[in-house]
Amino acid sequence: MRLLGRRGLRALPWILCLLACTPAGAQRLPTTVTPQHYDLAFDVDLDAARFQGDETIKISLAEPSRRIVLHATDIQFREVTISGGGLEQKATAVLNAATQTAALTVSRAVPAGAADIHIRYSGILNDQLRGFYLSKANGRSYAVTQFESTDARRAFPSFDEPAFKATFSLALTIDERDTAIANGRLLSDTPGPRPGRHTLTFSETPKMSSYLVAMAVGDFKCLEGSSESVPIRICATPDKVELGRIALEAAERILTFYNGYYTIKYPFKKLDVVAVPDFAAGAMENTAAIFYREADLLADSKSAAVSNVQRIWSVLAHEMAHQWFGDLVTMKWWDDLWLNEGFATWMEKRPLAAAKPEWKMDVEAGLDTQKAMNLDSLASTRAIHSTVETPAEIEGSFDTIAYEKGAAVMRMIEGYLGDEVFRNGVNVYLEHHAYGNATSEDFWTAITSASGKPIDRILPTFVNQVGVPLLNVGLRCDEGPPQLTVTTERFFTDPAMAKVARGTPNWQVPLCIKTSDSAAHCDVSGGPLANVPLATATCPRWAFVNTGAYGYFRTAYTPALLRAMAPDIASRFTEPERLTIIGDEWALVRAGRHSVADYLTLAAGFTKEHSSGVFEELSSRLTFIHDYLTTNATRPKYEQWVRSLVGPLYRELGINASPADDDDTLALRADVIRTLDLSGNDPALATEARAALSQLLSGKAPIDASAAAAVAGVAARHGNQELFDRLLAAAQHATSPSERNRYLFALGAFEDPTVVDRGLNFATTADLRSQDTSLYVRAFLNNPAARDRTWAFVKQHWPVLGPKLTIAGGDLTLAEALGSFCDARSRDDIREFFRTHKLPAASRALDQTIERINNCVAMKSGQSDAVATWLETR
Ligand SMILES: [Zn+2]
Repeated sequence: MRLLGRRGLRALPWILCLLACTPAGAQRLPTTVTPQHYDLAFDVDLDAARFQGDETIKISLAEPSRRIVLHATDIQFREVTISGGGLEQKATAVLNAATQTAALTVSRAVPAGAADIHIRYSGILNDQLRGFYLSKANGRSYAVTQFESTDARRAFPSFDEPAFKATFSLALTIDERDTAIANGRLLSDTPGPRPGRHTLTFSETPKMSSYLVAMAVGDFKCLEGSSESVPIRICATPDKVELGRIALEAAERILTFYNGYYTIKYPFKKLDVVAVPDFAAGAMENTAAIFYREADLLADSKSAAVSNVQRIWSVLAHEMAHQWFGDLVTMKWWDDLWLNEGFATWMEKRPLAAAKPEWKMDVEAGLDTQKAMNLDSLASTRAIHSTVETPAEIEGSFDTIAYEKGAAVMRMIEGYLGDEVFRNGVNVYLEHHAYGNATSEDFWTAITSASGKPIDRILPTFVNQVGVPLLNVGLRCDEGPPQLTVTTERFFTDPAMAKVARGTPNWQVPLCIKTSDSAAHCDVSGGPLANVPLATATCPRWAFVNTGAYGYFRTAYTPALLRAMAPDIASRFTEPERLTIIGDEWALVRAGRHSVADYLTLAAGFTKEHSSGVFEELSSRLTFIHDYLTTNATRPKYEQWVRSLVGPLYRELGINASPADDDDTLALRADVIRTLDLSGNDPALATEARAALSQLLSGKAPIDASAAAAVAGVAARHGNQELFDRLLAAAQHATSPSERNRYLFALGAFEDPTVVDRGLNFATTADLRSQDTSLYVRAFLNNPAARDRTWAFVKQHWPVLGPKLTIAGGDLTLAEALGSFCDARSRDDIREFFRTHKLPAASRALDQTIERINNCVAMKSGQSDAVATWLETR
């Protein structure tokens, strides 16, 4: 799955859970009964928002039993029979809401061996964006599924755990004006059984987990293409199907790439990709039927922003990577979710790097690694492999650790082994576990056997051990041949934690070292203290231990080494390497180990930075310093300095695109515009942006699509009621989802309190879809001028806003967005509010937010003076 707004929270009322929940472990099904095949027939009534189900599960019993337990929730059983040992018996079904299971009991024991469970039942098409649910657009209804992680049980009684793989045969009876899409190929389409209806049957799936079953019902239309003899369709509501052209081309090229990368060709005969009007995640990798949020799949090929096209490609590459990693081979249990998500997040960049080198995927990967390490430096982080049992715990594990840290660790191993050797290991793993399940151990065993390198020694220290290593690196040339001294400790943003952390960390870190005199060579450094000999006889001026920026670690070089490196930064360091240097420096500042003055001095050297990814990392820190570390007294001078730093770049690029601009330049322009406004508060830019937006909205002159969102944001920040009305109207009349989002999310940038309130009120109306609410409110929380009003509004309107905010995985998005506060009063207030308004899936995310705020408060009091002093020297 690819997250955008993350997926929603469990509907279990927590108070009921306190009274009635069985111990977490009891939610797992016994392993004495295993499903082999499901025959599923659904009769779907969109008008009544209901469905009837007729299900036969072929099972195998390891021992005789009178009682079979499987998952079911929000399902009404009508009739249950169990046939085995030549006897068909009626069964009683007893539901347990707390464990989301049903116990089926017969009077005489079913003997060991094969048996059939036959169930007739009915269910509801809910409005919670999970299970089998109702989505609406253009006055029509759609029924679609989202089952990951534990919601197949809302559509059909099932052994709803990833290790219970089975084959599935689906039939759907629907309105004659609608069609249906499922995992299998369409086998037959027959009128009836009642007037006005038709019944579609689909080919049997290969063995797969229940969370990957998919159905979509409605008047979908599709664009058709193919790649490597695999038919590919991009489907959407009829009004939007033409916006699928970019995705169709991307899917065709990505499939060709993967068929070349994996030794197993695409295993599922066809691929459908469906844009769904209401969808919680970014997209979901259902086997051969990927479901998508519209804004991440559909765009006008004539006018899409680079970021938009890139998002379509990368989410498709992510979901298609899952067809092998996730669907063909599935983690045994959710504690190894990183095998799915870390892998797909790593892999998604490979076909993009091949097809679009100008997108600089190695820099994108570097940004992901920075994001992971920033989170992983909190005391409240978790290990990649963590125990999860309940649906809420599983839900909460779809986080930066599973995705970005998982990907960063894969990338580190690939960087250490080289592309080809790592690829061989990946293929060994896939071939060995195809149509089955696997664990972390299975993964590193495969890579170790394919590479002959000690991956089974390295990987467990990053997968099972919590946190990010900090390597303190010094150079010694006074005793024998030159060597590096490396001491390793766990890195914490909170300096106090470093003192109280228990245990000796034991990372086995692959180091790829280059020096001022030599090319890179790689070695593994283990233990808290190590001396690493250099492959050079003479003492180099500097040594750099993260060549290629593949490492998952922070580095603190001695001041002498850093000074020696500085003059060579532009000439000897790649973009991803430069990114790690400024990323590490910022982390050391946040941890109170370096002064923010050191960072500003380093930043001042990046005046000619033309890589959009490196600039993005830098600009977010400059904005942080602006928002939290300047005072009314120092802010004007700081803004003036930022204008002197970024202004020349802006004057070089301008607000309008030039035909010669490549994609990275188009992306850079947007970042430069944002930075010059948010951190530089440039009055000339504000005037220019308002004029340009006004021209765009009145259809007089276009703005390059890649810069349009940034321009709209700047104009809104300095805008009034009238502009608000125009932006809202533009959002509501937009012809593509991306254009709509551009104007919608700009509404969060206004500073005028009356306008902020109007924007917040809009969030409570039916005009803002639930799936967009958390992202919309996040835009307001990211705006310093609207932050306090927004939080007050959210609390006050929680009965209306809470269900919308938390539905689409918004609980995690909301919890993270609140981390933009930086004062003790707000922190206490947030903690107090969520004491009584529980967010079960986001409890860890909330702890992380509180810790982030604490770190920010400490930094504000410790470093604001340093900013003032540094500015005085300019
Ligand atoms: Zn995924």
